[in-house]
Amino acid sequence: MSFHVKVAIVGAGISGLSAAWELYKLGIESLVVLEANSRVGGRTLNHPLVSGGYVEHGGTWAGPTHTALLALAKEMGVSIKKGKLEGQTFYGFRQKWTMLEASPTSESDIAQKDFAQAMITFEALCRTVPVEAPWQAPNANILDSMTMGAWIEQNTTTDEARAWFEGCVRQILSGDPNKVSLLWMLHFVHTAGFNDLLETAEDFCFVGGTQQIALNIAERLGERVLLNAPVTKISGYDGSPVELFCERGIVFAQEVIVAMMPKTVARIQFHPPLPPIHHQLIAEWETMSWIKFHAIYEKPWWQGQIVSGHFLSIDTKLRRSISRRKMGVKVSLLDC
Ligand SMILES: Cc1cc2nc3c(=O)[nH]c(=O)nc-3n(C[C@H](O)[C@H](O)[C@H](O)COP(=O)(O)OP(=O)(O)OC[C@H]3O[C@@H](n4cnc5c(N)ncnc54)[C@H](O)[C@@H]3O)c2cc1C
Repeated sequence: MSFHVKVAIVGAGISGLSAAWELYKLGIESLVVLEANSRVGGRTLNHPLVSGGYVEHGGTWAGPTHTALLALAKEMGVSIKKGKLEGQTFYGFRQKWTMLEASPTSESDIAQKDFAQAMITFEALCRTVPVEAPWQAPNANILDSMTMGAWIEQNTTTDEARAWFEGCVRQILSGDPNKVSLLWMLHFVHTAGFNDLLETAEDFCFVGGTQQIALNIAERLGERVLLNAPVTKISGYDGSPVELFCERGIVFAQEVIVAMMPKTVARIQFHPPLPPIHHQLIAEWETMSWIKFHAIYEKPWWQGQIVSGHFLSIDTKLRRSISRRKMGVKVSLLDC
């Protein structure tokens, strides 16, 4: 099989499908989305339960500052519902637990002040990084040449505040603060707000699951979405047409969008080879290994209590647990 299109998109996760949908709305109907898997949605996936309903194995929650995703869901007819139960969260560090919001344990005033001061300094620095052009931030080169971890080290004086700041960054990024550019992090946080990322990012979830957004886009694009079509080679991307080789044949496209996790892009053979700096970026891209798991109880025993059943722990393998509203389901993250 071989065919010609204006635009070929690699990956039918939310990024690839939303790019295809935007192009389609602009009148570009000659497009194809090539997906390696036998389903769309990528890192969003519903898993049906024997007892009825479903749990979400991948991306689940959105906050009020996730405006693009919320708008896309609305456009796709996917409504939102409350994300997590109201009530207080337990915060844990060195086996001490507190219900104070995202701060070190109440026993250490000095650490709390230290943490709060670092947060204020960080938020002020965030505001100096333009959302549309982060490279134009004052001292952008310097900010880009240091890691988020190094900044935390320099801007905290207590072990406890340092551990909390690092833990919060890990939580937001699912990544290691010592391997992330400070400029990148400042820009990322400025797009949403530190507090929003920490506190309100789970305010909403989607009726039918987040994967429903991808499923609905794919339905509208119809035969333009090709499943079981892993792209193995992209040739001539510096000119036109570009050739994309996949198990189902060759696609000739005027333009290509690769909408995959950077690390997995390294599995595609590019001809000519990608520029060295780009190749180095994807080759060295690291992802943290977290396991999301669901514990299902007969009843949501935490309902009606002061606490919500959520906890956030900075220095244990079990990092986080969130309780779902109606079902007796606890969603937890294991750092491994
Ligand atoms: C467990 C977990 C929980 C999460 N929770 C949240 C959350 O609550 N809120 C939130 O905002 N985000 C969350 N995320 C992150 C969110 O799910 C992702 O950022 C988002 O789904 C990424 O979408 P994407 O389209 O960019 O990439 P992906 O979803 O990774 O899509 C890439 C697609 O490319 C395909 N592909 C790969 N290689 C090839 C190839 N060679 N040829 C063709 N296709 C290929 C893949 O099969 C995949 O379908 C979570 C992620 C995980 C894993």
